[in-house]
Amino acid sequence: MNKNNHSSNYRGRIAPTPTGLLHLGHASTFLRAWQRAQSGTLILRIEDLDRQRCKPEFSSSAIADLHWLGIHWQQGPDVGGPADSYIQSERMHHYVSAWHTLRAGGFIYPSPHSRSDVARALSAPHPGESEAIFPIALRPTMNCDSFPRQPDGVNWRFRVPDHRKVTFSDGRCGSCTFTAGIDFGDFLVWRKDGFPAYELAVVVDDYLMGITEVVRGEDLLLSTARQILLYEALRAPAPAWFHCPLLCDANGQRLAKRNHALSLQTMRTQGMLPRQIIDRIREMVPGAGIEPATLGL
Ligand code: GLU
Repeated sequence: MNKNNHSSNYRGRIAPTPTGLLHLGHASTFLRAWQRAQSGTLILRIEDLDRQRCKPEFSSSAIADLHWLGIHWQQGPDVGGPADSYIQSERMHHYVSAWHTLRAGGFIYPSPHSRSDVARALSAPHPGESEAIFPIALRPTMNCDSFPRQPDGVNWRFRVPDHRKVTFSDGRCGSCTFTAGIDFGDFLVWRKDGFPAYELAVVVDDYLMGITEVVRGEDLLLSTARQILLYEALRAPAPAWFHCPLLCDANGQRLAKRNHALSLQTMRTQGMLPRQIIDRIREMVPGAGIEPATLGL
């Protein structure tokens, strides 16, 4: 039974990317998000901006798997709500409008450089950073008034305030600090294929959907620092943050969509019950913090 009584102003969201089947790692994070939204509102948003890799059938299977698991949301593509759409590919006008705000404020610049330009310009690789820090030497020198007036056809990056320390308090991980220019560099906000990058789309949606707390995996902690800079640039208040532990397989590797054996669909067809999925997650991550009793399961 869903004990959600909508009594608080809490607004959370779950935001799957439909590039594959949901696995135990998603279940762990989404159950936690649902649990934290028990006295408020939960939104389901489909993040399908990677047009090459996202498939509608994975959106449908995510919705079916989440319902089967017992997770309920009050707003989403299947149940409606006040937003014009809960599917990112149908929300382009909002991202374009944010792009205009960022461009007018001088926060972003067109960046025609290829990956190999960036690699050549780097003096040293940065260990621990999955994406190389974009070299300051490749920032344009011309005045931003001469930048294109439309986003498409070129990558656009956010110019980070060099050496600015971005600190936030995470509901699980405590105080986190990342330094612009050292832990992360100028990051993509718009891709030359005509779509916003993840960082921009998620900030625009979380803001417009009135999200009060973002619950997601701790692999996105560094992204939170980037997103806080975007909130500031867009003059929008940032939500609270809660980053969940990641699940690893038997070899200590983070679960990925290619771990088909651990997909919810496979486990469901093998006859596992939602309660057994939760017990499995609790075994794999002692700190997962999922309490079946509070979920009415
Ligand atoms: N759509 C992202 C993913 O599936 C999650 C983004 C977020 O929660 O901010 O990894």
